[in-house]
Amino acid sequence: MRALTVQPGTPNSIDLSTVPQPPLSDGAVLVRALALGVCGTDREIIRGDYGWAPPGEERLVLGHESLGRVEEAPPGSGFAKGDLVAGIVRRPDPVPCPACAAGVWDMCRNGQYTERGIKERNGYGSEFFRVEPDFLIKLDPSLGMLGVLMEPTSIVAKAWEHVLRIGARAPAWTPRVALVTGAGPVGLLAAMIGAQMGLEMHVLDRNKTGPKPKLVEKLGAMFHLSLDGLRPDIVIECTGAPPVILDVFGRTAPDGIVCLAGVSSGGREFPLDVGDLNRSMVLENHVVFGSVNANRGHYAAAADALARADRDWLAGLITRRVPLARWREAFQPQEDDIKVIVDFSA
Ligand code: BGC
Repeated sequence: MRALTVQPGTPNSIDLSTVPQPPLSDGAVLVRALALGVCGTDREIIRGDYGWAPPGEERLVLGHESLGRVEEAPPGSGFAKGDLVAGIVRRPDPVPCPACAAGVWDMCRNGQYTERGIKERNGYGSEFFRVEPDFLIKLDPSLGMLGVLMEPTSIVAKAWEHVLRIGARAPAWTPRVALVTGAGPVGLLAAMIGAQMGLEMHVLDRNKTGPKPKLVEKLGAMFHLSLDGLRPDIVIECTGAPPVILDVFGRTAPDGIVCLAGVSSGGREFPLDVGDLNRSMVLENHVVFGSVNANRGHYAAAADALARADRDWLAGLITRRVPLARWREAFQPQEDDIKVIVDFSA
């Protein structure tokens, strides 16, 4: 079968390779791929800056934003041929640490977790893949191709869940205004969940042309090019861009919570008045925390959020659908891209 593979650590080694059918050891459920979402992490892996091949192998099958249809599932697995599904990315570490032992692998304590298509496990960028039933999620069949948004939605489902848990430290905390920075797929999906929660949503992006401002507006949210005048109760930071992160610090209302959900590359220094930041954080009970990955509960929440979402709005997030035969184009960013997918069904 065909698979998108890379040699981690070697820049631009990505290729469409012929690989053996997925081994049974990957899981009992055989899935035929429909689509694969492309994200910043994939581009980092392609640049040779991130990613690890499975032990003893040179190449890694790329891809962690999966969508497929069950081809074969054993009786009692909870899946049947034809189910629309997405695979979970992370697997618990083998020790396991207390978090992984409790099924909370997104909070792995020893870093020995593995991730499909990223860290030591082949990904979902192949015509067929296998998954363990416990790491596969069924999607509302009416989502069709839009189900490819499942993995990024799981990331923000976790971010929101943790914001609310942290917020519960103050019994009377009743957030009203939330800000999302970055109107990429992750930011827009974060804003979608905030809007579903009934919050007054604001979204910041540097790009006022293209489809993003309209998508924000269609959510009933407000689009901003600057944060001036905003004092949100919650911020979900999705850019990973240091100037935006600095701008967000100290800007929340009293008891405010900032969730950092974007990964930065580092290497550049930015000035920060630590004393001033500390003063506002202490005197106003601010919280800044980081959030990565998602566990099964977050995928379930994401499946629910997507099932409730407006299908036309979700379709607006997928700005390019590249057939597998022209796969290279999917990895060449274009202006106005939001989510680009490789179409395995074409
Ligand atoms: C993925 C996460 C993963 C993280 C770090 C992100 O792109 O969405 O599932 O944990 O990269 O590898």
